[in-house]
Amino acid sequence: MSNNMLNSFLNNNIADLKDRGLYNEIDTVQGANGPVIKVKGKEHINLSSNNYLGLATDERLKKLAKEAIDSHGVGAGAVRTINGTLDLHINLEETIAKFKGTEAAISYQSGFNCNMAAISAVMDKNDAILSDALNHASIIDGCRLSKAKIIPFEHSDMNNLRQKAKEAVDSGRYNKIMIITDGVFSMDGDIAKLPEIVEIAEELDLITYVDDAHGSGVTGKGAGTVKQFGLQDQVDFQMGTLSKAIGVVGGYIAGKQNLIDWLKARSRPFLFSTAVSPADAIASTRAIELLMESTELNEKLWENGNHLKDGLKKLGFNIGNSETPITPCIIGDEKNAQEFSKRLFKAGVYAKAIVFPTVPRGTGRVRNMPTAAHTKEMLDEAIAIYEKVGKEMGFI
Ligand code: PMP
Repeated sequence: MSNNMLNSFLNNNIADLKDRGLYNEIDTVQGANGPVIKVKGKEHINLSSNNYLGLATDERLKKLAKEAIDSHGVGAGAVRTINGTLDLHINLEETIAKFKGTEAAISYQSGFNCNMAAISAVMDKNDAILSDALNHASIIDGCRLSKAKIIPFEHSDMNNLRQKAKEAVDSGRYNKIMIITDGVFSMDGDIAKLPEIVEIAEELDLITYVDDAHGSGVTGKGAGTVKQFGLQDQVDFQMGTLSKAIGVVGGYIAGKQNLIDWLKARSRPFLFSTAVSPADAIASTRAIELLMESTELNEKLWENGNHLKDGLKKLGFNIGNSETPITPCIIGDEKNAQEFSKRLFKAGVYAKAIVFPTVPRGTGRVRNMPTAAHTKEMLDEAIAIYEKVGKEMGFI
């Protein structure tokens, strides 16, 4: 028997989202997520993945993953604290710590899980968290879960942060205070002002947490945003994901040994949920090693990013303030952004519209994620399609 209250809630709200252009149709990718993807039976230049370095389909990683299935099976078998901590998970964590320049690391099943886990394991109702206004949803949810007082500060506005941090300290109301920020903001591609954030934190004795999901493999010659600024000893939590540049799945915190010990003892997704599979663990480990061994893929990513950005900028598109390969094409109106993306798709470019609530209202955009796996020809073809469709819709 279906419930009337539930049905009217769902149907009314879905209709409302569709009406406002806020309902994302989810496409199925037929095959691997590479620089060219097949969707609805047709090949498209893919400018929508977070597979920054093309490692999701790397032959070396695929081979290792297959071998790990033979040696370790397809699943970890239990949560980590019961008997699901495999040697492959330990290798992964040791490799992450080396990569991030920290004493230790802990891995989780996803980046989202990691933020939920780590923030709420350390912060509680007697604490406060200063959170950048454009922080990722998983940070916001992790903060909410902790029950700490959430104090948002204007995006990357250091005066605003300093003022709010001082007020929080002076109020004497909080046991611990944390500043939390994305390292690279995924919707705009700008980089957090970490040196200033760390300066404020040191001055006022605050905890620092950087979610570098989009920085790892990208900024700092691949090592990430914290290392780019040489702040690995000052940032308490270096959070990252294994699902983007690393090409696999999973999340992690790198930091001091006592922090990692605490997270292993108290963070609930670590304690109550099974870890990533053997194939995931070994593929992630090797991908990180590859990043430490060579900057070749990283250089290619930046070269491609700059090529696409230059091309779209020259055409007259508003690509915002990106400081990384992430290339938004900001349209404004949500419905226009959705329509633009649909027409690009028809013409052969797969670049999704990103609208509220992922970005603030009125800043709808089509976001492009060039990767190291794209060729110049693919990017030139994409730029030509942007020109044609952009003119057709009167955006340029
Ligand atoms: N943090 C940020 C900044 C992200 O962009 C994402 C992914 N969209 C996550 C965390 C979550 O990572 P994952 O996909 O590994 O869960």
